[in-house]
Amino acid sequence: MTAMIDSEEHKALRTAVASLGKRYGRDYLAAVTRENRHPTELWADAAKLGYLGVNLPEAYGGGGGGIAELSIVLEELGAAGCPLLMLIVSPAICGTVIARFGTDTQKQDWLPGIADGTRTMAFGITEPDAGSNSHRITTTARRDPDTGDWLLTGRKVFISGVDIADAVLVVGRTETVSDKEGRTGGLKPCLFIVPRDAEGFTRRRIDMDIESPEKQFELTLDDVRLPADALVGDEDAGLLQLFAGLNPERVMTAAFAIGIGRYALDTAVRYAKERTVWKEPIGAHQAVAHPLAQAHIDLELARLMMRKAAALYDAGDDVGAGEAANMAKYAAGEACVKAVDQAVHTLGGNGLTREFGLASLITVARVARIAPVSREMILNYVSHQTLGLPKSY
Ligand SMILES: Cc1cc2nc3c(=O)[nH]c(=O)nc-3n(C[C@H](O)[C@H](O)[C@H](O)COP(=O)(O)OP(=O)(O)OC[C@H]3O[C@@H](n4cnc5c(N)ncnc54)[C@H](O)[C@@H]3O)c2cc1C
Repeated sequence: MTAMIDSEEHKALRTAVASLGKRYGRDYLAAVTRENRHPTELWADAAKLGYLGVNLPEAYGGGGGGIAELSIVLEELGAAGCPLLMLIVSPAICGTVIARFGTDTQKQDWLPGIADGTRTMAFGITEPDAGSNSHRITTTARRDPDTGDWLLTGRKVFISGVDIADAVLVVGRTETVSDKEGRTGGLKPCLFIVPRDAEGFTRRRIDMDIESPEKQFELTLDDVRLPADALVGDEDAGLLQLFAGLNPERVMTAAFAIGIGRYALDTAVRYAKERTVWKEPIGAHQAVAHPLAQAHIDLELARLMMRKAAALYDAGDDVGAGEAANMAKYAAGEACVKAVDQAVHTLGGNGLTREFGLASLITVARVARIAPVSREMILNYVSHQTLGLPKSY
């Protein structure tokens, strides 16, 4: 790995997380996945060491750091072969949104548990009929005029970790009186904490072809009754609050991708130094070495953009962080897909064996290209927002 422009604190965190990751590694995660269980031991150890809540406020049991620190945790676990996908969702999205916009009660209820790993929260925005176009989501919350409760109805798809989550932070829209009368289409995105056992809230596991302990679910919300205080933040602040969670998600997905890319590249480099079928190890052939060098450069460039995005976000620059987080997610997703592909190829037949554990990373790497926002939607964003090009849709 090329040296990073880390502070002493970040260096120490990176080294400490890497050593935890080494104790578990790819074999652990593969075994957990095979046994159809969850990485609870690693999750608990990471919690004990303060890594799960490193970004959350100290007053609520967190480490008082930011997304810069949490992304180091995920990257280093990934580089050791055991990334924890739920870090992206529980402390990064849900923890951040609640810490920034939640009421004192919501903070007390959730943040200490998210930080010490005893409670997990999933996040649901994607819908079957909206997909990449989240402006089209139709999950709708309406007020019961008698009790002030919310009634939430809609469907979500591909939601990670719902089986292990105590609640899901669901993105819906409020239905205003004028909407009901059909006068305006002005629905606003709103965030609701939906407990796992809420009546009318059901889930169905989606049969994903991805080797990962975290599973994806389709959710149905059928007039789910929630107390007034299930709403996180201001009913009218909409997009701003949502992006307070979505930007960390993008930075963390970049960390996920870079960690996996580093793991794959490392495996390939070690192999290429030893495997000898002619006179020299295969790594001496430039056709083998150069693509590995390119993969390393691409991962390092993506890492730099990820650090920039995290630094901007932690400094409170939500707008600057938005652009950088998109670019970092794009660069990291692409670098990861290419690094994994090249790593598999470098191992020849062994690249496709379970023993070397690289082939299954091909599908895992593709997740970073699609979620949480696809490669094409980021190119659209940069075309329109950064370059000011006209929109075709
Ligand atoms: C493993 C996994 C975990 C996930 N976890 C979660 C989660 O926890 N919570 C959650 O809310 N969501 C989650 N998702 C959903 C994920 O965010 C979506 O899959 C993603 O946003 C893409 O939406 P879609 O699958 O509906 O694809 P679609 O929107 O149907 O897009 C299909 C293809 O068309 C392309 N496309 C669409 N529109 C355009 C356009 N205007 N221009 C160019 N190309 C376009 C896309 O780039 C893509 O390649 C997860 C997905 C996966 C695979």
